[in-house]
Amino acid sequence: MPKIEVVERILSANDQLAAENRVRLDAAGVVAINIMASPGAGKTSLILQTIEALRGRLRVGVIEGDIASSVDADKVAQAGVPVVQINTGGQCHLDAPMVARGLDALPLADMDVVFVENVGNLVCPSGFQLGQRWDVVVNSVPEGDDKPLKYPGIFTEADVVLINKIDLQPYLDYDEAAFRQAVRALNADAPIFSMSCKTGTGLAEWTDWVVAVVEKGQDV
Ligand code: MG
Ligand code: ZN
Repeated sequence: MPKIEVVERILSANDQLAAENRVRLDAAGVVAINIMASPGAGKTSLILQTIEALRGRLRVGVIEGDIASSVDADKVAQAGVPVVQINTGGQCHLDAPMVARGLDALPLADMDVVFVENVGNLVCPSGFQLGQRWDVVVNSVPEGDDKPLKYPGIFTEADVVLINKIDLQPYLDYDEAAFRQAVRALNADAPIFSMSCKTGTGLAEWTDWVVAVVEKGQDV
């Protein structure tokens, strides 16, 4: 079954390089946080709001993954933090070689945390290790509360789950309790924070989590 062997080789090569990325990040004292979500859930808005909230507390860098364009990296650059855009050229997830090239372009010695915005997709990003220490999945109110039922893999592996755009709750049939219950059925431990990146509601719970895990650093 040669096809399966090829896939296994690709995955193990990726895992090997992800481990090297992790060693490099640990040596520089940088914690990598992988942000995964559907397109439009608010990954870039989350990163922009988090940069503002952490200003003066943590030194932030960003790797932006997109199939094409530098729209998101341009927004992050305006916030005045180091950022590198990775265009995957059609691939629907980031992989460890791409992140290695991103790390090459960032001033790791001047950073405490790097947010890696994965390609918008709830399927395969969770299958490719990058060297991250933490996995975050963002769900948003307009997407609906059924995503954990449809995409169980990514919610099972999440370290934190965020519910974004809660300011839209009054206008939509989003059942937050049902969403939380569906996540909990897959994942016993991940904290679930609800927030609005537009209004700032609930953001502090998330940024306090980031500060706590970065301060714990390599001890966790
Ligand atoms: Mg984005
Ligand atoms: Zn993919």
